[in-house]
Amino acid sequence: MPATASLLLLTCLLKYGEVAPTDVNAQLRTCSGRFWHITDLHWDWTYNLTNKPERVCASSGQQPAANAGEFGDYVCDSPWHLINSSVFAMRDILPDPDFIVWTGDSTPHVPNQDLGETEVLSIISNLTDIINQVFPSTKVYSTLGNHDFHPKNQLPATQNHMYDQIAEMWRDWLEPESQQTFKKGGYYSEKLLNRAGFRVLVLNTNLYYDQNNLTKNLDDPASQFSWADQILTNAANNKEKVYIIGHAPPGFFEKKRSKAWFTPKFNNKYLELIQKHHSVIFGQFFSHHHTDSFRMFYNSQDSPISTMFLSPGVSPWKTTLPGVVNGANNPGIRVFEYDTQTLLVKDFVTYYLNLTRANMAQASWEKEYRLTESFRVPDASPASMHQVLERIASSHCYLQKYYKFNSVSYDLTECNSDCRIDHVCAARAVDFHRYEHCLEEEGAASVYGGLLPVVSVALSLVLASC
Ligand SMILES: [Zn+2]
Ligand SMILES: [Zn+2]
Repeated sequence: MPATASLLLLTCLLKYGEVAPTDVNAQLRTCSGRFWHITDLHWDWTYNLTNKPERVCASSGQQPAANAGEFGDYVCDSPWHLINSSVFAMRDILPDPDFIVWTGDSTPHVPNQDLGETEVLSIISNLTDIINQVFPSTKVYSTLGNHDFHPKNQLPATQNHMYDQIAEMWRDWLEPESQQTFKKGGYYSEKLLNRAGFRVLVLNTNLYYDQNNLTKNLDDPASQFSWADQILTNAANNKEKVYIIGHAPPGFFEKKRSKAWFTPKFNNKYLELIQKHHSVIFGQFFSHHHTDSFRMFYNSQDSPISTMFLSPGVSPWKTTLPGVVNGANNPGIRVFEYDTQTLLVKDFVTYYLNLTRANMAQASWEKEYRLTESFRVPDASPASMHQVLERIASSHCYLQKYYKFNSVSYDLTECNSDCRIDHVCAARAVDFHRYEHCLEEEGAASVYGGLLPVVSVALSLVLASC
């Protein structure tokens, strides 16, 4: 065994208290690490329990917060009490993660005129402080969300005062070289936990957001694509394995048909980047939707090559995006389990707070589900996630299970045939044309199913248990 591999194995064995190996390869395969993914905290500092429901929080836009309690309300962003509770729940559940992934969106959903640079910076600083205080010696890989700038969504492709200030706030977490690239464009790359052979690539995909007026006419904002291409090329040459971390994902929102975040040009470029370099990419960890979902990436032969995990948010805020019905969620946080030798994502467990119950009694963060248990797959590899997707697409029982988890057990209604198409096609097709094609195919499939009720019933009986 090469010296670095034996050192890693020793570190791994010491850390996880494994028994000395009789079969070294078997031990290498079983070495597990864990990390937290927390995101979309959206702190609404105006939250207050008053007897005027429309005045509870600015983020409700005067919708009445009818069930407001200490931990929040589904029409509001997070009160401090909820943020505090989520970070302490992380400490109670897993106090010594290998690292934390924090994918941004710290400020509340309020009009630009109700926030300024000072407020945005102060909110990010407060959240940085609480994570730092509760996990003082844990490495945090943090990225900006589209709400972490003033004006929101307008993250620039050049060095600016806000990137400088935030790089300063995150100085304990960023290597000196990361500080430099972060100040230039809000992105960075480092060796994962300083280990040889492992790397993180933290992207500022808000530069590709279609609402970002500063970047839409550029070919490669802040040269991030060419930089990422170079990092991933070097990673392949140096035999490194890479995790990609970001906020806004490519592809489509599963709760609103044909709603994409990236411009078509940037969506293509992102997809090309993943297809070109998938052999060194072992996971993509994004958010922005506040829901729990995932995106599959395929090669030209339709084999699964990569998965983007979309972790749920802490803020329960019901989206006001037109066309989305009842789009709130329970607060969620997630632990990923990975192989420390191969970076394979082995599993994840989502923990959540039932907001209604928490407001009535003591807060209690509970396990919501474990991927491998709920979807009966061996791990969270692209092949397994493809299997999960096919189960959701073909079995109403799995679809319903996925749909419940999608809102972090908030929306317990039935996912009908249109809903099934929206969720399946969003997960299956990041590419805009393939998505359209999927809508047609799945739409036709549901019509065909309707024409053959006997076959449909027989099929659903076969697939009934899950
Ligand atoms: Zn958000
Ligand atoms: Zn966002």
